[in-house]
Amino acid sequence: MPRLPSVPAATRLQPRLRAAYPDAACALDHADPFQLVVATILSAQCTDARVNLTTPAFFARFPDAASLAAARQEEVEALIRSTGFFHNKAKNLLGLGQALMARHGGAVPSDPAALAALPGVGQKTANVVLANAFGVPALAVDTHIFRVARRLGLSKASTPEKVEADLCRIFPREDWIELHHQLIFHGRRVCDARRPDCAVCPLLDLCPTGLGKIVDPHSGVRLTPAPEGPRPSGVRGRGAPGWVASPPSFVSLGGRERPPSPGPSQAPGIPSRIVSLVPSVTELLVQWGLAARLVGRTRYCIEPKWIRNTVPMVGGTKDPDLGRIRDLAPDLVILEKDENPRSAAEALTSLGIPWLALEIRTLKEAAAELRRLGDVLGVPASGEARADSLEVRLKGRRRQGPRALVLIWRDPWMSAGPDTYLGDLLRQSGFTPIGPEGYPTLDDAALAGLAPQVLLLPTEPYRFNRRHAADLQRRFPEAAVHLVDGQALTWYLSRTEEGLDLLQGLRKSS
Ligand code: SF4
Repeated sequence: MPRLPSVPAATRLQPRLRAAYPDAACALDHADPFQLVVATILSAQCTDARVNLTTPAFFARFPDAASLAAARQEEVEALIRSTGFFHNKAKNLLGLGQALMARHGGAVPSDPAALAALPGVGQKTANVVLANAFGVPALAVDTHIFRVARRLGLSKASTPEKVEADLCRIFPREDWIELHHQLIFHGRRVCDARRPDCAVCPLLDLCPTGLGKIVDPHSGVRLTPAPEGPRPSGVRGRGAPGWVASPPSFVSLGGRERPPSPGPSQAPGIPSRIVSLVPSVTELLVQWGLAARLVGRTRYCIEPKWIRNTVPMVGGTKDPDLGRIRDLAPDLVILEKDENPRSAAEALTSLGIPWLALEIRTLKEAAAELRRLGDVLGVPASGEARADSLEVRLKGRRRQGPRALVLIWRDPWMSAGPDTYLGDLLRQSGFTPIGPEGYPTLDDAALAGLAPQVLLLPTEPYRFNRRHAADLQRRFPEAAVHLVDGQALTWYLSRTEEGLDLLQGLRKSS
């Protein structure tokens, strides 16, 4: 049985947090203590991303305490309006500038008491500034840390101040600054306030809340214990697919010849800064607990939802922003042969950025590539476990079943052929996939000539709806027409098992 996070066990948390969030750091852009105090004041009830959009213009106009002390309140308000509560924040910022000039010669003090006494600062802001501007060990407890610490059983206290005191007792002083950032990252990326993603959490075996041993102190309900091993596919959501070709066998490793440079906590050769241009692979990396290594994603990489706020976007799947990718300095870019254009891989090669191209046409290949992807990313056990569970589903001879056709587009009609990932998904679920190979376009006569017994209309990439299904049912009165979840069918690797569940369920009921 996993141990509960007793205080001694708490010391096991930080190595895991270090591995999960090697990039944990202050998210507020700043160049000096003055800028950090201002940014921290602005961040109250506001996202760090919004503050970072606001401060460049602010610091261009008010680069120091002297200029801020002489400012007009309306001018300050106009510059910070988008951060919310701008009347009060502007008042505090003016007071801050004046107090710094009057008491500290325009400099931000590094004395905790003097810092906390400044207008708009207080204990929490003072701790943030002390830690990040002066390297003074401090552990400011914000809403994320308050929630995560209590869920992990590190504190039962009901106020941030008392939680801070508990954490400072448990963890060595030299770890406080790092821990502060790690817990915030964990709260933002995994331990969400409303939907903690316990199934992918690297701390699960140490967390009494995630294990269902205690009631979640944040929500007041007991969480269902997460299954062990890789999370089964089952997440729903909107978004673009990766159907077009299919998944997994990355067939080539391009870019520079030398292996990717190791990240701060990765073994040599293991990528630590990954850009994913494939939505389902992005989701798979999160399922494998590798979210902290993701430094870029396409606009279609939208699952899990929180990734949209935490991982920068690098354009679309067909038109990735190569300049943005270069600026992110990845040591691996993951592509898929049909999802992304070959020109993107060629451009990455010319930039000296390593890339990996996937290509999957069968579920057997999917299992093989899960293993290989696990090896390349330094998580062979995750790849092995997922591949094993998929292969168990593929055992046994499949008898020829009803003739099934998957349409993937309308006007013109397009279908997925027997030689595609979708074709094999049908085959492995007991159907006989029909139609021309690849992803052909079909006119009405060609579609009618196929005479499917089962017609599947996924909600992606084309948004087939009930009206379309009714129309096709009229055209094929003998066929079983099903509107089905497009992500389950087309998000290979991360949702292959979900696709099998869906189709095998339909087969049983047919
Ligand atoms: S197991 Fe769940 S509740 Fe516990 S820290 Fe992880 S995400 Fe949060």
